[in-house]
Amino acid sequence: MTDCSAEIAQQYLSGLQDYLAGGGEAALQSAYELGRRAIGAGLGTLQMLAIHQQCLLTAMRETVGARASVDVADRSANFFAESLSPFEMALRGFSEANAQLSSNLEDLRAAEDSLLHQHGELLAAHQALEAERRRYRDLFDFAPDGYLVTDLHSCIEEANRAAEALLGAASGSLAGVPLRQFVVESMQEAFADWLSGLPDGDAGRSQDRQLDIRSNAGLTFPATLSVRVVRDKAGLPAGLRWLVRDATEGKRIEEHRAQLLVREQVALAQAAAAQCLAFLAEISSLLASSLDCESTLAAVARRIVPYLADWCFIYVVEPDLMIRFLGGAHQDPGQTDLANALRSEPVCVDAGSRIARVFHAGRPELISEAPEIRAGEAAPFRFLWDQGVQSLLLVPIVTHGQALGLVVLGATPAHHYQDDHLVLVDDLARRCALALENAQLYSAMAAERDKAADANRAKDEFLGILSHELRNPLVPVLGWARKLRKNPGVVNDSVLSAGVETLERNALNILRLANDCLDLVRISKSKVTLEKQVLDLNQTALGSIEALRQTASEKGLRLETRLWPSTVTVLGDRTRLNQVMNNLLLNAIKYTDSGGSIAIRSSANVREAEIEIKDTGIGIAPEYLEQIFQPFRRGSKEWLASDGGLGLGLAIARRIVEMHGGGIWAESAGVGQGSIFRVRLPLASARFSTRDADDTLPAGQASIASLRILLIDDQKDVAELTSMDLQALGHIVLTATDGQSGLETAIREIPDVIISDLKMPRMDGYELIRNLRGISRLASVPVIALTGFGMKKDIEAAMAAGYDACLNKPVEFSELSAVIQKLAAQRVILISKH
Ligand code: ADP
Repeated sequence: MTDCSAEIAQQYLSGLQDYLAGGGEAALQSAYELGRRAIGAGLGTLQMLAIHQQCLLTAMRETVGARASVDVADRSANFFAESLSPFEMALRGFSEANAQLSSNLEDLRAAEDSLLHQHGELLAAHQALEAERRRYRDLFDFAPDGYLVTDLHSCIEEANRAAEALLGAASGSLAGVPLRQFVVESMQEAFADWLSGLPDGDAGRSQDRQLDIRSNAGLTFPATLSVRVVRDKAGLPAGLRWLVRDATEGKRIEEHRAQLLVREQVALAQAAAAQCLAFLAEISSLLASSLDCESTLAAVARRIVPYLADWCFIYVVEPDLMIRFLGGAHQDPGQTDLANALRSEPVCVDAGSRIARVFHAGRPELISEAPEIRAGEAAPFRFLWDQGVQSLLLVPIVTHGQALGLVVLGATPAHHYQDDHLVLVDDLARRCALALENAQLYSAMAAERDKAADANRAKDEFLGILSHELRNPLVPVLGWARKLRKNPGVVNDSVLSAGVETLERNALNILRLANDCLDLVRISKSKVTLEKQVLDLNQTALGSIEALRQTASEKGLRLETRLWPSTVTVLGDRTRLNQVMNNLLLNAIKYTDSGGSIAIRSSANVREAEIEIKDTGIGIAPEYLEQIFQPFRRGSKEWLASDGGLGLGLAIARRIVEMHGGGIWAESAGVGQGSIFRVRLPLASARFSTRDADDTLPAGQASIASLRILLIDDQKDVAELTSMDLQALGHIVLTATDGQSGLETAIREIPDVIISDLKMPRMDGYELIRNLRGISRLASVPVIALTGFGMKKDIEAAMAAGYDACLNKPVEFSELSAVIQKLAAQRVILISKH
């Protein structure tokens, strides 16, 4: 028993005793109080019952008698009941409270359920929120671009990973760091200005700026910063949200794109330039294709459309600044015809007109408004405007300040022509000017060339006539000189024989000059045909050496000959090669003083034969070594100082050698050092042999002793001399002095051979031969023509007319005699065969 319950038990006993003692209501009241105190002390009814029974026993012991005991028991029961009434009341209160609690509990349970439900919802909402937050955080963190949240002074509050990576900062280390710190120094001021202006900007819109950022790692890169101002509920700027992008790649792409753009533009420009060049090249080749300016310019106009213009008109400048409309071109041929119908007489260009101005400036001019037509300005301008042309370009063709023409370009779109067109048409005009100038120069040159050709022809004709006229009188001079030389009266008279010799030598000199002139004319006109045969060059050289040995020895010159041991076979014209050799040898004799020597050497290698003529003569200055092969050029300026000759021999020799496919040149160590002349000729192939080249009479043909020869020549001297020579050979010579009487004599006498001049009075040689060939008895008689012209065309004409041979005057008698023999022999063979 606790102190409290013992105390309550004590008080209960005392109260019970008091009640039993008759304490009445007050005592009962104490029982009631005790009951309350017991509840307060936490005692239960059973403990109260235990206390009561203990106190009842005590009371019972003090009571005497049964009755009294019953009364005590009864009254004690009242007292006990009274002490329990607080318990009952408390119980009742408990019961009520319990009921209330139960009801409250229900409510609480309902509330709890509701709370639980709300909690569930809240939890779900929270979880969704958390997921969303995490998603946004992830987005924030894993976004490829850098995101920053800063205060208005760019002090970083939040940064995503990309921003940290960009700025080279460790995770979470950017908080509190000002963004400005990462801007390169040179841009910090600009950044600060930008920053200070941001709060005033539009909150809804971000602002962009390119800045160079230097990361913590020291890397500098271009960055694009986009920033948006965040405002609070009151609309006041509260912070900044930044998007930071590394612009390196963008910039690279941008640069790449710019490069591509540039490249594309360059390619476009190149394509345009190539097109331009192709156009200009085409124009140039058009201009170069013909020297007929007008047709060329018309072709240019046609090429210009539509590349440069819808319309192109061409004018040419006539003398006295008259311009003539040459024609127009349009893509549509119908339109072109329309324009070409405008062709009119040349008009005078008015000094104040636009065209005159353009000619004067020498530069193209643009016209972008309807032109007012002035006097002297061609009507086609108006025509073009009426055709809808809105841009005109006048392009003058000017050279050395002289206007040659005008190109008018017309385009339908307004303001079509730009500066680059000006450059192109300027070039075009320059090319046209050049072509026109060339054409003008060419026609001037052609006129000059024609004049020169005429002069050359006249010179050739003059030389031909001169040599002809020189040779004719020479024939009797030479003939008589030769005859006189043999005449005993002359032979025995030293003065007369020296005089006759001089006569003959000089006549021969003049003959040589005349022959050279004629030869040159014939060679320069390519009228010489080589009669090639296989021959031994050694023999040709020997022939010349032997022919001139006497001349050399007369001058006191020593001739040394060293010829190639075997035959040197070339395919050549014997007479012409002889001519070359003779010329070289004669020159060596001529230009070597008495006492000197001349060495002639021949040699050969696998391809070529060479003849070398070396003298110890006057030599040749180096500057003349080549010149002496030009016609009329000599080895010295001193014409008079040099020995005779026109300076034609070497020119002729070179031409002859070249016609044989060879070469000829001179060598000399200088004046007074002697000269060497070399001739090289290709060797004939081995399949030829000199035997193939036999041009002598067929074997067994004896010379025909006595022939009846009719000689027809109007030059009595020539006829007489030739007649004497022929008679000396035993022939019977009949003569006639013109074609007509010659024909009559021929019909009458029927000679074995007829020799006739070509140029004769009454009937020339051509008519004569036609007549002779028409008479059956004379048709096969050999007829030899003698011509003083010696031109190839004369010989060809004579042969074509029916002559059997044609010889140049003055003919070497031996040559004439050989031809007579040959023709007569052929006729004998022919007659004997029939
Ligand atoms: P020509 O002898 O009739 O004047 P060529 O044409 O034969 O004409 O010669 C041209 C020039 O070459 C001669 O005038 C002479 O000056 C020079 N010449 C030719 N052969 C010799 C030579 N063997 N030695 C020195 N000069 C020479």
